[in-house]
Amino acid sequence: MNQKPKLIYTQEEMIKLNKETLLARGVKLEQIALIAYDQQSKYTKDIPFQLCLDSVEKIISYRDVFHYIQLGTEIDRLAEEHQFRGPIQDILDYDLGLFGADETFGLDIARNYGTIGQTNFGDIDVNKPGIVNELNEIGKLSGHCHTFLDDIVGAIAAAASTRVAQIINETIALENLDNVLKYDIFDLLKKSKATKK
Ligand code: MG
Repeated sequence: MNQKPKLIYTQEEMIKLNKETLLARGVKLEQIALIAYDQQSKYTKDIPFQLCLDSVEKIISYRDVFHYIQLGTEIDRLAEEHQFRGPIQDILDYDLGLFGADETFGLDIARNYGTIGQTNFGDIDVNKPGIVNELNEIGKLSGHCHTFLDDIVGAIAAAASTRVAQIINETIALENLDNVLKYDIFDLLKKSKATKK
């Protein structure tokens, strides 16, 4: 009897499968979180590392990101095993600079966090911090292909970094609101009159 194929996964299942897939391809979530941490530390001091790690988990729980991770890592693996036919085998294996489908994956993942997500991805794509550089270097060795993985990892870091920035801004906005609410509107009017005198 034919078994029904499993097509739909829960967020918990997607996180678990993505974690396992990334680890099997040499990437730990902490290494992705570190890129987000370093990128946001340029703007804000003392960011909790856990917030970066939680943000990475959040990004890899999205269904479209799950599909990109699962598809991109399989393309890399198949290229390592020389399973493609025609010119695309060498284009993938040699990570041709003018091949842009990998960046398209990255841009689309980063787009979950808007224009800032995409510009953060551009920064990571150009400067190749941490694990992105390691993947890029290992990918040049024979028997290794990280053509899609480096962009996927960079984009998850960019999206997580943008999420961290949004949470920090929300916290600041709520604190400011709390300060305003401490005063009665008439207290504020009295205060402004007193300073005018
Ligand atoms: Mg690439």
